[in-house]
Amino acid sequence: MKIIFASANPGKIREAAEILGPDYEIVSPASLGITEEIPETGATLQENSLQKARYLFERTGLPCFADDTGLEVDALGGAPGIYSARYAGPGHDHQANMDKLLKELEQLVPISGRCAPTASDKQPINDRRARFHTVVTLILADGEPRFFEGTCEGSIAREKRGNGGFGYDPVFLPDAYPGRTLAEVSEEEKNAVSHRGGAVRAMAAWLKSRKG
Ligand code: IMP
Repeated sequence: MKIIFASANPGKIREAAEILGPDYEIVSPASLGITEEIPETGATLQENSLQKARYLFERTGLPCFADDTGLEVDALGGAPGIYSARYAGPGHDHQANMDKLLKELEQLVPISGRCAPTASDKQPINDRRARFHTVVTLILADGEPRFFEGTCEGSIAREKRGNGGFGYDPVFLPDAYPGRTLAEVSEEEKNAVSHRGGAVRAMAAWLKSRKG
């Protein structure tokens, strides 16, 4: 079955193709002549992925799915979240986004328990817990959206490391591979634990269960 994936990222397409297996042929929007940027103006990951999937379904009438991912950092109240791609500005510059994130986590905060702290009563944020969170929306011929989620738990490194992956990978230390950033693991290792892999695996399981 042909299924459109709202992505132009070859790594994401390879990962989804591997998970969905030979029964599905993943088609890119560009191969169908859809080259404009698909609008993403929602307030949540779910709204954004739904908006992208719906856009493709309305344009083509074909089965399709779309993902939306955010990096959620606990000490920053879940930021950058849905703003991950444009955290440092509209240019979607990954290096600038990571630099901004590292700088935000170096800001000094009051040491808890001391009232009226002075400058020397402050320390850098210690809690660096974070996760990637993906929501996938699938729309089949019935036009009904179905949602699937995946997360990858970890923490933010003190500096960028590694040349693999993309986006925030050089500053993300997944719990699954202690001491290595996602940019320092192989593509297979990343896919085995990735947030998007989890969401696409949940979608693949649902598709399989429906076939019986
Ligand atoms: P999107 O939803 O895939 O467009 O991603 C939103 C933001 O999260 C972009 O800044 C991406 O670079 C980043 N991002 C998405 N997936 C990953 C990943 O697997 N590793 C690192 N960054 C990612």
